[in-house]
Order: sequence, then structure tokens, then C-alpha cells
Amino acid sequence: MSETKRHHHFIGGEHVAPSSGEYFPSINPATRGVLYEAARGGAEDIDRAVRAARAAFEDPAWRDLSQTKRGHLLRRLGDLIGENAEELARMESSDNGKLLREMRGQLAGLPEYYYYYAGLADKIQGSTIPTSDRRVLNYTTREPLGVVGAITPWNSPLTLTTSKLAPALSVGNTVVIKPSEYTSATVLRLAELVLEAGFPPGAVNVVTGFGAEAGQALADHRDIAKISFTGSTATGARIAANTASRFIGSTLELGGKSPNIVFEDANVANAAMGVVAGIFAAAGQTCIAGSRVFAHRSVYDELLERVTERARTIKIGDPLDEATELGPLAFEDQRDKVAGYVDLGRSEGAKVLTGGNATDAGLGGFFYEPTVLVDVDNDMRVVREEIFGPVAAIMPFETEEEVLRLANDTEYGLAAGVWTSNLSRAHRVADRLEAGTIWINTYRAMSPMSPRQGFKNSGVGIEHGTETIKEYTRLKSVWVNTSEDPVADPFVLRS
Ligand code: NAD
Repeated sequence: MSETKRHHHFIGGEHVAPSSGEYFPSINPATRGVLYEAARGGAEDIDRAVRAARAAFEDPAWRDLSQTKRGHLLRRLGDLIGENAEELARMESSDNGKLLREMRGQLAGLPEYYYYYAGLADKIQGSTIPTSDRRVLNYTTREPLGVVGAITPWNSPLTLTTSKLAPALSVGNTVVIKPSEYTSATVLRLAELVLEAGFPPGAVNVVTGFGAEAGQALADHRDIAKISFTGSTATGARIAANTASRFIGSTLELGGKSPNIVFEDANVANAAMGVVAGIFAAAGQTCIAGSRVFAHRSVYDELLERVTERARTIKIGDPLDEATELGPLAFEDQRDKVAGYVDLGRSEGAKVLTGGNATDAGLGGFFYEPTVLVDVDNDMRVVREEIFGPVAAIMPFETEEEVLRLANDTEYGLAAGVWTSNLSRAHRVADRLEAGTIWINTYRAMSPMSPRQGFKNSGVGIEHGTETIKEYTRLKSVWVNTSEDPVADPFVLRS
């Protein structure tokens, strides 16, 4: 019998056993098989990792490295991820059940994030400020914060970790990552590649474990300069309160309940594919899932027919199989949560047009059929709350004003899709939608170059693009008196 592989933490450039001596299993959600065991981290392990990160931050080998050289290291890391992409994609697909072809796609694009922030590394600069006194030189610099704590979810572990890691390193921070307890393996592998790329030991550390133990300990640690979190709104709220009370910053990328709006002048065939991509890709386990679909009354029937027709033919199965279109939910509770919401929808009066059943797809895993709910309205919990599964609620509307009101009537504001061939309407509606990302005639597009931000309960702070640099630096203003004149009056404010 082969032994289950055990993963330790990765601290200070070394694999380190957990101080508790305990490990927990990671389950393949397609088959329920145990993939490996990960170290169960706690406050002691977090403290060790933060101390290693702090030592690396203060070490001249990292602190005094030129910005250009930091860029070289990030470029090398991007190359290494590219060289190991297939292994990482397979590990991630087995761990969270997402399609191998989806993970291959994510991995193929991942080096670009490192190249982007590598390019930016030596373009981060302050400015000189003309104050009212010509004898004063006033300039600003952007400094790294220190040790950044990164807490990430299970749905796209490497991509969502990279959104934090690449900019944080590009400006000279060091990082402690607490990955999701459901997907520890690829982030640990990433930390090994960081070391291989030439970053000093301790620049990136990984402590695995549960949210209430390792996650909480990281968010509470006194030597953390910032928390960058992606996950649920409930956990984000707790972290926001905690970090605010200690006057440290947080970047929070949280949940969503995004509208996908199909106007009467849309290409309905394309819109139907956009709706399918928005909610059934990745089995709906994306923060940006287009889970609320609004179709103009005149195209409602056609859209419904196209979407349900495609939903019925979606091939459910082994995520490692190239032909599979829908893999399992990431773990049993998640599958039960999705099933519970569909049952709740039924009891609220929703009609299940297609799907609505859990299945093991003949593999023993945690699958749920692609599901379309109709006869729903904005007051139902299935329309208001994030389900995080392959469940679309499709609703008709009559006017642009009405659909804008419905689309914006949500606590979330992460993303929105608009399908129309009317240019004026496209921009007008984009302007009125309360969401940080708007897709017109497309859905689920992402680039390291394009900033994103959750509005309302979907988050605080910006990821990607140049703007995110501000999230990982602090601004210092330096005043230099170039005059040697005697100080005239010490009791007045100088300018
Ligand atoms: P989660 O909040 O349960 O967990 C996220 C991470 O936080 C995990 O690593 C977990 O261990 C940790 N955690 C849990 N409790 C904690 C605590 N008290 N203190 C510190 N850390 C704690 O979320 P999840 O179920 O892993 O992920 C799904 C959620 O993530 C969804 O709501 C989804 O919308 C959101 N998400 C958002 C984005 C985005 O960019 N906005 C992207 C992906 C996922």
C-alpha cells in the first residue's frame, strides 16, 4: 500500500513540520480519494513564519536589492511557473476539481502576471513637489510595507495568490501565505519555485491549515503590516474589523452575485454562450459568476431555450478528462450548500427548468448538475445570496431603467455583464451599474494589466494593474532645507 504524501509548511526556505505535529487530509472532490496530508498550522507556526519573513525583509540581501534586480527575480519566477505549468495545473485540478483545461488555461497565463510586475518593479517612483519655498526640496518615495499576510481561497489558488504575491514582491515586501485548507499543495510548490528563482529564504513563506486557526493567527499577528485577503464576505468583514482596529491596511476581494443582462438588441446566441460561461464554467465556483441573469422580455424565451439546451448537454465528469465540461464542487459541504440553496429556491416558489440534482457522476465525487431556475424574483434568497455553484436564476425585464434598478439591488458589486449591439446603451448602462468590472458582449475576462475592485460588500482595494502598487507601499514625504540661512522664527509653521 502506498503511503499518503505529507506536506510540511514552507518557512524560511525550508520544509518545516507543524508545531502541533498534526496533519489533515486533502480530498480529491471528483473521487473522494485522499490526495495528500497538509500540516495543520497554528499560532506558533504563523509566528515562526512571520519572524522568518521579517528577518528576510530586513536582510540587506533583499532590502538593498535594486528594483531592477527584483524585477529579474520575478521574471525568472514567471519562467519557472511556465516550465512547471502542466504539473501545477494537474495538482490544482485534482485538488479543487476544476477542469484541467481551465487550470491549464490559468497556468498558461500566470507567468504574464509575474512579467507584468517584473516590468513595473523599476518604474515605481516618487515625485518632487514644488512647495511655496524654493529653498526647500520636497520629494516622495514609495516604500514597501514589511511583512504582508496573504489569505486565499480554494477556487483558483495559484491565480488568486499571484494577484497578491507578484505586486507585493515587486515593491520589496516579504510575504506569509495561508492558502485554503482545501488546496494547499500548489501554493507550497509555488513557494519552492520562488526559492529556486533566487528570492532569499523567508521572502515567501507558506503556513497551511484552517481559517480559524492559521488564518486567524496570521490576521492577528502584531508584526504583519497588511492583510491581503480573497474569500467570503463574512470572513472579510472579520478581517477588516480586526485590521482597522490595529491601523493596518487590508485589501479584500470578496463575494459576488453578479448580474448578466441581455438586452433585446443583443446577439442572443452569443449572449447565451456568455450566460453559460458566466455560471457553468468552473461549476459556478467563481467570485464573478453571473448568477443573476436578466433577459429582456422579447428575447427571454429564446435565451432560456438556448441556455437550458446547452446546460442539458454539458458533459459532467472527471476534471482531468479533456472532454469534461463540468467537474465537481470542491468539497462535500460546498456541494451540500449548493443543493440546499436549490431546495430553498424550490420552497420559495422557483421552478427548476433543468438540473437540480446532486450526482456522483459515477466517480464517487461531489457533483451537481448545471441548474436553471425561473419564476424567481429579486427578493428570494437564491437571488440575493451567493451560492457559489452552477445555479443560474433567469428573470425577464421590460425596460432599461427597470433592469438597472434590479441589477443594482444587491449587497454585492463585483462584476456585471451586458449584452447589446447598441453602443450608446452599452456605455450608458456600464456607467450606471454598481460593479467594479463591467463586461460588454463578453464575460469572465481578466488580465494583469486591468485593475479590478469590488464595490459595496464585494471588497475594498484594487488588484491588478498599476494601481495595486499603492496597496503594497506606503508614501513618504521628505523635506530638505537647502538653505543655510538662520531660522528666523521657530514658532511658526514653515511651508
Ligand atoms: P472563506 O472566507 O471561507 O476562506 C478564505 C480563506 O480565509 C481560507 O484560506 C480560509 O482558511 C481563511 N479563513 C477562514 N476563516 C478565517 C478567519 N476567521 N480568519 C482568517 N482567515 C480565515 O472563503 P472560501 O469559501 O475559501 O472562498 C469562497 C469565497 O471567496 C466566495 O465568497 C467567493 O466569492 C470569494 N472569492 C472572491 C474573489 C474575488 O476576487 N473577489 C475571488 C475568488 C473567490
